Amino acid sequence: MSNILRNIPSVNELLESAPLKALSEQANRNVVVAGVRDFLDDLRKEVQDKAKEMNLPNPAELAERIADWIKQDEIPLLRPVVNATGILLHTGLGRAPLAEEAIHAVQEVSDGYASLEVDLASGERSQRVKCVQKLLQQLTGAEAALVVNNNAGATLLTLSALANGKEVVVSRGQLIEIGGSYRLPDVMSQSGAKLHEVGTTNKTRIGDYQQAIHSDTAAVMKVHPSNYVVVGFSEQPTLQQLVDLGHRRNVHVIDDVGSGALIDYGKYGITDEPIVSESIKAGADVVLFSGDKLLGGPQAGIIVGKRELIDRITKHPLTRAFRVDKMTLAALAATLRIYRDQDSVEQKIPLLSLLSTSVENLQNRAERIAPQIATCPVVAAVEVTEDVSYLGGGSVPSQQLPTRCLAITPAGQSVDQLSAALRAGSPSVFGRVKRDSLLIDLRTVFPRQDMQIVAALKALSGLENEASEATPPLETLDESDIAD
Ligand SMILES: *Cc1c(COP(=O)(O)O)cnc(C)c1O
Repeated sequence: MSNILRNIPSVNELLESAPLKALSEQANRNVVVAGVRDFLDDLRKEVQDKAKEMNLPNPAELAERIADWIKQDEIPLLRPVVNATGILLHTGLGRAPLAEEAIHAVQEVSDGYASLEVDLASGERSQRVKCVQKLLQQLTGAEAALVVNNNAGATLLTLSALANGKEVVVSRGQLIEIGGSYRLPDVMSQSGAKLHEVGTTNKTRIGDYQQAIHSDTAAVMKVHPSNYVVVGFSEQPTLQQLVDLGHRRNVHVIDDVGSGALIDYGKYGITDEPIVSESIKAGADVVLFSGDKLLGGPQAGIIVGKRELIDRITKHPLTRAFRVDKMTLAALAATLRIYRDQDSVEQKIPLLSLLSTSVENLQNRAERIAPQIATCPVVAAVEVTEDVSYLGGGSVPSQQLPTRCLAITPAGQSVDQLSAALRAGSPSVFGRVKRDSLLIDLRTVFPRQDMQIVAALKALSGLENEASEATPPLETLDESDIAD
């Protein structure tokens, strides 16, 4: 064993090798030196553990391996990808892409200092959410607004501030789970509020709520079921009915609408998404929604409603724990500003651009790309097919959007292998496996990315010299991508 250890080249010897010398010229030399040391430490441990049977690679091979290992770490794990899954709000892929205006705003405020918590006129300390309050008031009709980290945070905070130690009435048909860790009953118990379930899974009537309200009730809460639908023999009271009841009985009405639609998505084939301003108009006291779902902005939890309640929520200690930074606020303000001119939203909010792309446009692009993909040796056949895309991001999976896909049959490898290779490639492309083909769904692909997909497939075929570094593949697409 000690022999083997003695045969391991020194750090300096290795740094003189061709691959590591080349790497030191491209990357930071300190990073390379530290990488070599780490690799050798691991190697020595391995030698000690495995004792005799180890065969050391020769020095040239060893240097090559270390260089590859260091290079892997130089590619950020979080990097841009092409979303060809057809899931518009894919939580695994970062939900909504930001508008150019939002990106610009983020850059401007993060380049140096920003007026995050000061009033420019008086120089006095002010509230950081002020920059979006007026916009949210205008766009939703609410008296006041608050922004926190995400809607899960908004829900926990609202319940903690308004219902700690008291009961909140929720229909059994609305006790949602959004992707694993978000379960409404758990959020509720964490807030200190007591869940009072009423009705059944499929039917809850206004009378059920009525009977449940007593002196210990703080609120009734309506929750948009988002990722599932109860169809058939089913019934839920309207928000208006809940508001009438709540106000008669002096309890708050909280409406978790989920996606945060500021406009009607009906014309894109998305029905059933509550519009925030309509909840406010119906009289909900507090309305909760996400910033990075249908709104098409940064991750955020938005709370709008009655001033007195928003003030109470704002004073709760969790508000500080869930607060957003200047980059989020800048991106959100810029995104909201776009909504003031409804004629420009389709053009400026990327999610809406994707949603509003015509099937003819997708068909034309697919027909243009297909012959180029067909020439790649990793591709046995490619076909333009009709299929459906999903909104994702906690929306109802039954809401499907028409689309066009490139259905690729791989040559010399399985569909899963090709799919994994594309994910790990450069650029990284995420498709959707359907039976024996890999679908590239153009509904979620920006036109500027069409040629990137061709380039990625060419790179895999060794046609271009773009090395595709093997990185740990993300999980393949499954049900939860659509659900959360
Ligand atoms: C998505 C969703 C949440 C969670 O929102 P995040 O912003 O992901 O934390 C809560 N409630 C509903 C109804 C949702 O759709």
